[in-house]
Amino acid sequence: MTRSEITPSPDVTVPRSEAEIAARMKALEALMIEKGIMTTEAVDRLAEIYENEVGPQLGATVVAKAWTDPEFKARLLANATDACAEMGIGGLQGEDMVAVENTDDVHNVVVCTLCSCYPWPVLGLPPNWYKQPAYRSRIVREPRAMLRDEFGHDVPESVEVRVWDSSAELRYMVLPQRPPGTEDKSEAELAELVTRDSMIGVAPVRV
Ligand code: FE
Repeated sequence: MTRSEITPSPDVTVPRSEAEIAARMKALEALMIEKGIMTTEAVDRLAEIYENEVGPQLGATVVAKAWTDPEFKARLLANATDACAEMGIGGLQGEDMVAVENTDDVHNVVVCTLCSCYPWPVLGLPPNWYKQPAYRSRIVREPRAMLRDEFGHDVPESVEVRVWDSSAELRYMVLPQRPPGTEDKSEAELAELVTRDSMIGVAPVRV
């Protein structure tokens, strides 16, 4: 089974095609504008934010800074929301962020078992698989097997796997390990290595 084959359980009613999702979105948007809950400008602005202004490229700069600045890293692990705010990163769905650090002994992975809670300012919008029941249930039951089978990430038996359940109150991000052989890289170069998946905890950072 591959990631793309993760599908919702049959008893869950979800839109089946992109066209259907788009049609639902248009209907919802029209209704909200008609009822005065939203304006067209606000919808456009939100889309612009999540297309261009927030996303994993911001999370990557946070990780690279933590790798190169031990004092920042300490502040990030103590209070991720405040540390990200220092870098001008924050906002909707990032009010209470927590960073958990991968080490030689511990590998962290993030899920929202209830729905799809996720730290938008540093990671953008969650990927589809993050929202699927298959990921949300199995990553809790057998994280090691799930990481290996679905993501090709083999975590050694000697490393403890910790699963963090994000919620509307607390949203987790993973501080991945800095890969070996990157001692000469600048903060900007390091940021380019950091992927969304490494900050969810389903992949390591590779050079
Ligand atoms: Fe959720």
